[in-house]
Amino acid sequence: MDYRKEKLIITIAPTGNVPTKELNPNTPITVEEIVEDIIRCRELGASIAHIHVRDKEGKPTSDREIYKEILEELERRNCDIITQVSTGARGGGNTVEWRGQMLDLNAEMASLSTGSSNFPTQVNANSFELIEALAEKMYANNIKPEIEVFDLGMIDNAKYLLKKGVLKAPLHFNLVMDVRGSVSGTPRNLLHMVESLPEGSTFTVSGIGKSQVPMLTMAILLGGHTRTGIEDTILYDKGIIATNTMLVERVVRIAKELGREIATPDEAREILGLNKKTVGCAQ
Ligand code: MG
Repeated sequence: MDYRKEKLIITIAPTGNVPTKELNPNTPITVEEIVEDIIRCRELGASIAHIHVRDKEGKPTSDREIYKEILEELERRNCDIITQVSTGARGGGNTVEWRGQMLDLNAEMASLSTGSSNFPTQVNANSFELIEALAEKMYANNIKPEIEVFDLGMIDNAKYLLKKGVLKAPLHFNLVMDVRGSVSGTPRNLLHMVESLPEGSTFTVSGIGKSQVPMLTMAILLGGHTRTGIEDTILYDKGIIATNTMLVERVVRIAKELGREIATPDEAREILGLNKKTVGCAQ
């Protein structure tokens, strides 16, 4: 298949759980900063915003009220970007009630990790029981999961959950390459993971740190999609502190050089089969 056939979806992951102002002063932490970065990245070509929130001290949290503020503010600013909330393990507690507390808000997508792995400073613990409960709440709220995998086995887990009827085809994956503790970001690893996806799946690739440019370039060439942002790399290059906008601009440049057009949010909705068509709004 011609990799240029489908337009490229760019996801912006502006904040994550790990970056701090000390590590990178451009990390958006407050609601206002996060919304501002998302809107600027949308203008540059991002069509999905992968959102994490922080508490008043800047610590990662899964607090529903802060997610609600961000979704409402994006709506108030008429931002049409696809909103994707994080149900990741680093936002505090490890129950479905805590990690899935924002899933009744009107987001269009949410991240769903289908297995456990090591993060540099903690364990990314996701039991089948927890994965199934989060998936159930997503589907009940018409939220499409983005299956976040840090290793090959998590793709097998997703296939098992598909067969069991917990997950619904077609699946959309985020292949996260080069997190310390998980699969390394090599072309061979990425190719093997892409070839292992269930037929009919779509995928995006996150390249952590120095694997960012090679992994995202390879994703573009394989007909996949790309995620970028300070969540994935605090440096633009050796010794150069990143901003979210310069990271998006770089992906747009690489895609253009490779002849791949950039998808708008509505085109991304079409590609991913989203049917909410809302303007990032909260209930
Ligand atoms: Mg995340």
